[in-house]
Amino acid sequence: MAMVTDIGAPVRVLSWSERSEPEAMYPDGIDGAVAEMLREAGGFDVRTATIDDPDLGLSEVDLEWAEVLVYFSHVRHREVDDATVARILRHVQQRGLGFLPLHSSLDSKPFQELLDHPGRLPGWREDEKPSRVWVVQKDHPIAAGLGDGFVIPAEEMYQEPFNIPPPDELVFVSSFAGGEVFRSGCCWYRGAGRVFYFQPGHETYPVYYQAEVRRAVANGVRWCAGR
Ligand code: ZN
Repeated sequence: MAMVTDIGAPVRVLSWSERSEPEAMYPDGIDGAVAEMLREAGGFDVRTATIDDPDLGLSEVDLEWAEVLVYFSHVRHREVDDATVARILRHVQQRGLGFLPLHSSLDSKPFQELLDHPGRLPGWREDEKPSRVWVVQKDHPIAAGLGDGFVIPAEEMYQEPFNIPPPDELVFVSSFAGGEVFRSGCCWYRGAGRVFYFQPGHETYPVYYQAEVRRAVANGVRWCAGR
């Protein structure tokens, strides 16, 4: 059944992390950092969950409540079992749950299965050098308020070819110190749901504290909710 939404109500967001990120950088996890940025932006009702919660923090009840699932995983992808992945896919495709995988979550099972693609990339480099996030579709709602783009002072390089099906909408392309480029803001429609992959956010750099990144994530969550 499709989701019934009161468009004036706050967007209900489940902010989830596997919690491998260093506490020195993210004392409340990336799930907590995302919750904070959305509360600051306003218009969101946010709950946080982690892989260590009952049912991996992704139970039927957790997902049923949410309009958008923001997801961060890095080294514990395979701990998310097939039944949980199937539950996420059902909510996205049949109920219209939005799915927003961050950064290394391109190797997560729900992302790969929703796209029916490996998602993987041929190379990366943790060199702490600047990355420029270029807005390539200026009239897209996820690009609102971001002008031509912005520079992240320290970021991890991700390299093309990114093994994804062509995005239905491409919002950001990032460039890196070695001249590499990467499709860093990609949208897909999957059944009743929307998927937005956002590349910035290596967990040992303070990327999710940067204003433009926070705006991009908030815009992405709204888009995933169909707002
Ligand atoms: Zn990383």
